[in-house]
Amino acid sequence: MTTAPSTTEVPAPRRGGTSGRRRLVVVGNGMAGARTLEELLARGGGEMFDITVFGDEPYGSYNRILLSGVLAGDDDEEGIVLNPREWYADNGIDLRCGVRVTGVRTAAREVVDATGAVTPYDVLVLATGSSSRVPPMEGVRRADGSLLPGVTGFRGLDDTRGLLDAARAHERAVVLGGGLLGLEAAHGLRRQGLDVTVLHSPAHLMNQQLDAAAGAVLRTSVEGTGVRVLTGTRASAVTGTDRVTGVVLPDGSHLAADVVVLTAGTTPNTGLAEAAGLDVDRAVVVDDRMRCGGAPSVAGASPTDGVYAVGECVQHRGVVYGLVAPLWEQATVLADVLTGADPTAEYRGSRTCTKLKVAGVDVAAMGLPAPELPGDELVVVAEPSRGVHLSAVVRDGVLVGATLLGDVSRTPALQQAFERGLPLPERRLELLLDLGGGAGEGDVADLDDDAPVCSCNQVTKGAITGAVAGGCTSVKGVMDATRAGKGCGTCKGVVGRLVELAADGALTEDPSVHWYVPGVPLRKDELVREIRERRLLSVSAVFAALAPGGEPDAKSSMGLTSLLRTLWPEDFEDERGGRFVNDRVHANIQRDGTFSVVPQMKGGVTTADELRRIADVADKYDVGMIKVTGGQRIDLLGVRKEDLPKVWEDLGMPSGYAYGKSMRTVKTCVGSDFCRFGLDDSTQLGIDLETRFQGLETPAKLKMAVVGCPRNCAEAYVKDVGVVAVGKGRWEVYVGGAAGASVRKGDLLATVGSAEEVITVVGRFVQLYREWGNWLERTYDFVPRMGLDRLQKVLLEDAGGLVAGLDADLEQAVAAYRDPWQEGREPVTPGQFRTALPLVPLPLVPRRAAGAPGGTSVADIGSDLAAAAAGPAGGAA
Ligand SMILES: Cc1cc2nc3c(=O)[nH]c(=O)nc-3n(C[C@H](O)[C@H](O)[C@H](O)COP(=O)(O)OP(=O)(O)OC[C@H]3O[C@@H](n4cnc5c(N)ncnc54)[C@H](O)[C@@H]3O)c2cc1C
Ligand code: SF4
Repeated sequence: MTTAPSTTEVPAPRRGGTSGRRRLVVVGNGMAGARTLEELLARGGGEMFDITVFGDEPYGSYNRILLSGVLAGDDDEEGIVLNPREWYADNGIDLRCGVRVTGVRTAAREVVDATGAVTPYDVLVLATGSSSRVPPMEGVRRADGSLLPGVTGFRGLDDTRGLLDAARAHERAVVLGGGLLGLEAAHGLRRQGLDVTVLHSPAHLMNQQLDAAAGAVLRTSVEGTGVRVLTGTRASAVTGTDRVTGVVLPDGSHLAADVVVLTAGTTPNTGLAEAAGLDVDRAVVVDDRMRCGGAPSVAGASPTDGVYAVGECVQHRGVVYGLVAPLWEQATVLADVLTGADPTAEYRGSRTCTKLKVAGVDVAAMGLPAPELPGDELVVVAEPSRGVHLSAVVRDGVLVGATLLGDVSRTPALQQAFERGLPLPERRLELLLDLGGGAGEGDVADLDDDAPVCSCNQVTKGAITGAVAGGCTSVKGVMDATRAGKGCGTCKGVVGRLVELAADGALTEDPSVHWYVPGVPLRKDELVREIRERRLLSVSAVFAALAPGGEPDAKSSMGLTSLLRTLWPEDFEDERGGRFVNDRVHANIQRDGTFSVVPQMKGGVTTADELRRIADVADKYDVGMIKVTGGQRIDLLGVRKEDLPKVWEDLGMPSGYAYGKSMRTVKTCVGSDFCRFGLDDSTQLGIDLETRFQGLETPAKLKMAVVGCPRNCAEAYVKDVGVVAVGKGRWEVYVGGAAGASVRKGDLLATVGSAEEVITVVGRFVQLYREWGNWLERTYDFVPRMGLDRLQKVLLEDAGGLVAGLDADLEQAVAAYRDPWQEGREPVTPGQFRTALPLVPLPLVPRRAAGAPGGTSVADIGSDLAAAAAGPAGGAA
């Protein structure tokens, strides 16, 4: 039951941490929690508080909105990071990453976390967000309360990774809910190649934002992508015992599915607040200063003094928001309140304008989706064949709602009219169409200064033109300065047009778009020259010499580490803070905090002895799963960090580099030794290439393959470097291929007459990519950027006179190769292999064993493999 929060703010008593500052604890490191921290720091909060943040996801903060892009393969995980873990350390924030808070004791002013540790606070901010709602369906949960394997929400990075994994292994998905999230999930899974059906119980899609006509147009667009849509129906039960097999519809029919995604609403995470006695209704109740309410204590003062909440877990004036723009407004007010930057700051609620890209379709919606009263006017423009449906609802001459589907160019003008009740044009169609014949530029020129442009970050036209007047004349500069376009990104076009207009012909391109890393203002070639001339051997030396004010920048460290290793293979001074955890411990971190270990198997060839050792290691260290990888190696999944050195020692095999931005693996087919089509010895050439290039740092991961004839059984045409035997000792070398989220056939760089020449040409290409490729630029972008013609001139004709240098640099790098797993025997730092975090139990990652009921032991699998390896080595690639 709701009670109104106290309206008199009692300042939190100053108890002080070791520094004498007040202790601020934030629970939840999602978009609202992280934004609150940024706003606090911007107001000097770093000097006022000792800040501790608990986030039960094992990451820094990331842009949750872009998970849809990750699922669809349009974004990668690195691209969605908002603040990496180093950012917290750099700002003096104690980030308890991967740690869940389990209790709040308001009377004692302390929180208890899952490790049992108790952390006192003077000020507490709850930013716990929401979870996917689990509809009440028979069979959806197992006896222990966990979701049936194969049933998942779509809320966090782990859900997204799970969906991507499922997409690789399965074929059919059912998405429950045809709102924003459901359509995003369906779109992503369809893009990953699954058969997808959306079940939506209301009569039309996105019924909360769209009227029936717009919903029908959206449905046509969604179905056009191959997604099946069933409206007016719901799943009444989930079938399957060990894993989901489908859902049952109310008419008793069964819809088969290997994956079921729960996107029919979210539930605010209020458990902590409820248990602590705070006011909770549909969510945690806050007042206009984001304070929580609760029963007064016997001592008279409320135990909720100093307790605040922000984000999706919050209910303000009866409203629970599910979009970022209002949450960021809340974060701003809360930072003003906590730091005293604006003593009068109050949050009065938000009028939301939803601007989204749903399943590839632009959507903007505000206010009423359809007329409600008899006198309401409806203005509609529809072009169903182009997927466009625009409508506006006018009441008493004022815009009270608008829905734009497929063409959102009129959004800023409509939003301005909607939010401020502006007079509307006589010809109502002008609301939705630019009848003056302008190309949209007139639109933005006509906007008032306080017209909102970026709804996510509440940036107005005035703020954008003000930034331009203040000297920012590039689109990126204005976006950085105002944050416009940095939420869902749908307003970037309007921001660009506004900057162009305001700069009045003086538009510049921000040079930082060409910098190798954000914290050092130099292009890659300039940076390389400076590093070489000044002989800068460490990341900190680069920052000291080349960054503005000598300031380190956490987002730049990994890229610089990679570059320095490329430039100084022998002399590079390694500062381990510059590495991602995978590179620090030479293994790939998994969702539960354990690691995957992939030993090297050159060219995909192994021996019975190696397989026996792998089986012994798997048994000894209780490995969760043994998996044959797509790169023709064997992956031991579920190894604990502290066991890594012993695992490597027992394996006695070098690292397969399955974790780094480096040369990963060379796949081969069996080639001429065994295959009747084989034109040459692809296996041996694959082994030779892997021996030559093993472990080489590259701007992004690099994969190779060699095949014995153009039948291409090991997929050489779609690798970063692919080599194809074409007979009579000749080989074709392809570069820039891809077969992941992007698919590209490589370009034929050269046809050469011997295996030795292959190694030479490939070496020159790899070294050029190492030296000229941008950080995280895959070869499928690098090759088109350079142009095949130019690459051929540089590498084959030595047009720039670079070849001798490339050969020499590569030789040095190859000579510097050391197996990183040797480090296991001598840890570089005392904590290198110590587990810092509690491992998260992972119900969604079952321990798998091949074979019959009752399971096959790890040793059995190992001996099966060993037996297979001991037999003839020919067969499938
Ligand atoms: C796929 C997807 C697409 C979206 N697209 C859009 C869009 O286009 N536009 C838009 O405006 N919005 C969109 N949203 C919604 C938007 O992301 C959310 O409104 C926003 O993330 C909510 O922020 P929050 O911080 O309140 O919650 P969250 O971002 O969910 O963060 C809460 C954090 O607190 C952690 N936590 C919870 N309890 C505890 C505890 N006890 N201890 C420690 N940590 C805890 C959670 O694990 C989580 O990390 C989308 C959301 C998703 C999932
Ligand atoms: S295994 Fe395939 S690619 Fe290799 S030689 Fe035989 S047919 Fe050709």
